Amino acid sequence: KEEIAAFRRRLGIKVEGSDVPAPLAEFSQLPAAKTRSAAAAESAAHARGALLSAIEASDWTEPTPVQMQAIPAMAEGRDVLAAAPTGSGKTAAYVIPALMLLGGDAVTKGEGIRALLLAPTRELAAQIHREVERLAAGRKLKACVLSKALVAGSRGQGGLAKNDILICTPMRAVAALRSGALTLTRVRLVVLDEADKLFDAGREGQAPEDTFIAQVDELLAACPSTAQRALFSATLGPHVKELATSVLRDPVSISIGTPNA
Ligand code: ADP
Ligand code: MG
Repeated sequence: KEEIAAFRRRLGIKVEGSDVPAPLAEFSQLPAAKTRSAAAAESAAHARGALLSAIEASDWTEPTPVQMQAIPAMAEGRDVLAAAPTGSGKTAAYVIPALMLLGGDAVTKGEGIRALLLAPTRELAAQIHREVERLAAGRKLKACVLSKALVAGSRGQGGLAKNDILICTPMRAVAALRSGALTLTRVRLVVLDEADKLFDAGREGQAPEDTFIAQVDELLAACPSTAQRALFSATLGPHVKELATSVLRDPVSISIGTPNA
C-alpha cells in the first residue's frame, strides 16, 4: 500500500476513487484480459502477445505515468477520468486497454462496432487511427475513421459493422446514427478524447440538440448502458469535471503532474 503510494508520488500520479488498482510499472506486467471461456482465454493470450510485440516495435521502453495508471483501471472495466499534459501518451493509455478488451477476436469476429473512440476533429481521429493500426499489428481487428464518404460507400457488405473500432467526431457519429448507417448496440467501450477541446468544437451557432453534450448523450443512449466509459483531457476545467460527473460511474480519476487547468 505505502509502496504504491510512494511509487505514484515519485511519478506525479494522483488518483481518486474507490479500489483504484496498482499502477503498471512495466508493459511486461500487462494483465491478460478477463474472459468467460477457455477459447476466449486463449484468444486473449494471443492478443496480449501481439500487443506486447507491437509495443516493443514502437521502441517504448516503459509506460508513461498516465498509461501506468489508466491501463490497469480500464483493464478492470472501470470508468476512467484521466488528465495529463499534451504529449504524455494519452492515446495509447486507452488504445491498449481497448485492444485488450477486444481480445477475443477469434471468438467474437464480425460482431460489429465494440469500441467507439470520439475526438474533437477529423485530424485527431486520423491520428488516433494510426496509433490503433500500429498497436493492433498482428490482429484481425478492423478500425476506421468515420467520414461522409465512408457512410455513403458502406451500404451493403455488412456496412460499418464489419469494423470493430470506430473513430470519429461526435457530430459525425450522430449523423451516421440518425441516418441508420451506424448501430452501436454492441459497443463495450466509449472514449472521449481531448474532452476539453470537444467543448470548443461544438458551441457557437448550433441548435441546442446539436451541442456537444447533447451529441454525447445521444451516442451513449444508443450504446448498451453497461458500456465502459472513459474521458481523457489535457486540462481539468469545470466543463470537463461536469461532463465527468454526468457521464462516468464510480470512476477512477487520474491526474498527472500539475494539471494546466
Ligand atoms: P497526448 O494524447 O497525451 O498528447 P500522444 O498519445 O499523442 O499524447 O503521444 C505523444 C507521443 O508519445 C506519440 O508520439 C506517442 O507515440 C509517444 N508515446 C506514447 N506512449 C509512449 C511510451 N510509453 N513511451 C514512449 N513514447 C510514447
Ligand atoms: Mg491526445
